[in-house]
Amino acid sequence: MEKELGASPSAAPGQVTEAWARIRGRLREEVGEVEYRSWLRQMTLSAIEGEEAVILLPTRFLRDWVRGHYGDRLRSLWAAENLGVRRVDIRVAPELRAPEPEAAMSDGLAGAAPVARPQQATLALAEPLSSPPRSHAEARAESRAESRNDWAAPLDPRFTFDSFVVGKPNEFAHACARRVAEKPASPGFNPLFLYGGVGLGKTHLMHAIAWAISFNGQRNVAYMSAEKFMYRFIAALRAQSTMEFKESLRSVDVLMIDDLQFLIGKDNTQEEFFHTFNALVDAGKQIVVSADKSPSDLSGLEDRLRTRLGCGMVADIHATTYELRISILQAKAQGAEVEVPPRVLEFLAHKITSNVRELEGALNRLIAHANLFGRPITLESAQEVLHDILRAHDRRVTIEEIQRKVAEHYNIRLTDMSSARRARNVARPRQVAMYLAKQLTSRSLPEIGRRFGNRDHTTVMHAVSRVAELMQSDSTFAEDVELLRRMLEN
Ligand code: ADP
Ligand code: MG
Repeated sequence: MEKELGASPSAAPGQVTEAWARIRGRLREEVGEVEYRSWLRQMTLSAIEGEEAVILLPTRFLRDWVRGHYGDRLRSLWAAENLGVRRVDIRVAPELRAPEPEAAMSDGLAGAAPVARPQQATLALAEPLSSPPRSHAEARAESRAESRNDWAAPLDPRFTFDSFVVGKPNEFAHACARRVAEKPASPGFNPLFLYGGVGLGKTHLMHAIAWAISFNGQRNVAYMSAEKFMYRFIAALRAQSTMEFKESLRSVDVLMIDDLQFLIGKDNTQEEFFHTFNALVDAGKQIVVSADKSPSDLSGLEDRLRTRLGCGMVADIHATTYELRISILQAKAQGAEVEVPPRVLEFLAHKITSNVRELEGALNRLIAHANLFGRPITLESAQEVLHDILRAHDRRVTIEEIQRKVAEHYNIRLTDMSSARRARNVARPRQVAMYLAKQLTSRSLPEIGRRFGNRDHTTVMHAVSRVAELMQSDSTFAEDVELLRRMLEN
């Protein structure tokens, strides 16, 4: 079925074939075997059309993924072959679809990162994360399309356990997620209820579970947002196909509903979810749910639903700590084509404390900028490129506020911030306040020293490094300081 390779002006077909083999070999080396098999193995070179290499992939999903992640790399590898190819066009050719994907278990890769079989891996009920809410009519059309099972419903391929950085704030939720992925529906872990603020990794963990489960065995996993669940349900009502809807839901082995808080006030949908939930749990199927609050705090959900949600494992993801932010940044920077200096990572971890999504966004922006302009990333360029984000985070906290909050928190008198007392129970909070003053305001060390009872700038310097040190070695202390920082920033 493979077409003849159109001849490029400067290359014989044999040369092209060899070049293509080299390029694939290079990519394989660069990205590793698992990644290569997941995304790149199915690439077929269709033709060289003038300056353009045309590469085919069997699904739109794979095409978008390869285009987004490897498009530039493919182009530069082609350019390096000196065959006159300057562009790469990646297209879908559904007829390329492999008859039956190789079993993931048999090739010695099981347990490693997932091998892509997105269409088999998830039931078509799931949705890409970024898709906007749809109208009912669209949803209905979609639910028909789905019964034919012909649209890809990928989980985000980046959201795996491998790419999830574990730290104090998320280790419990992560451990629970792992456990559920390994042994779905084990007693005590069903349902698994994950909760936490926005951008802290709930969706990431859910997708990671889904990937792991669907690649470890032949289970049916359905992941969808609560919003989608509702649209589905309403569409089914209108199309008078609620039976089918229910059956399709109840035929899954693992049902994951993301952002359950969306169902607050949607009583009919809640009711439907409740019944589905019971039916699945009774049949020994696993449920995973996420929300922005704990079951007991989700007022507006029916009591009986809240009770059921809370009776498995409830795991919260806490706000990030500096440590975790650094680890995440390091992990994300590692794969980048440009070098991100440690100082810049530290800077970001200090300044962008809201959530991981924003942190990631900032790092990506720096990397994109550096790539675009071919300039290295420096502290100065980071400040420049991110000035809008940084300004938003730059709350104008005053030293007085800091002193007041810290004194309150440690239960000491405000006057002790500037007193000469050196007892540990006073001196330590004072050091914390100095540290936060350095972090959260633009005051210089001498200025800070003056505000703390006319102390010398070296005293402030010492306080800052002492607190940083303690935060490294004492996680309870670190959490305390982070908590104070967040209170001051809000
Ligand atoms: P939530 O669903 O809680 O709002 P997401 O799961 O969408 O948050 O996470 C937001 C972004 O941050 C995603 O790109 C995700 O990959 C990333 N992220 C969150 N936590 C981590 C982590 N611990 N390690 C790596 N990436 C993370
Ligand atoms: Mg989410």
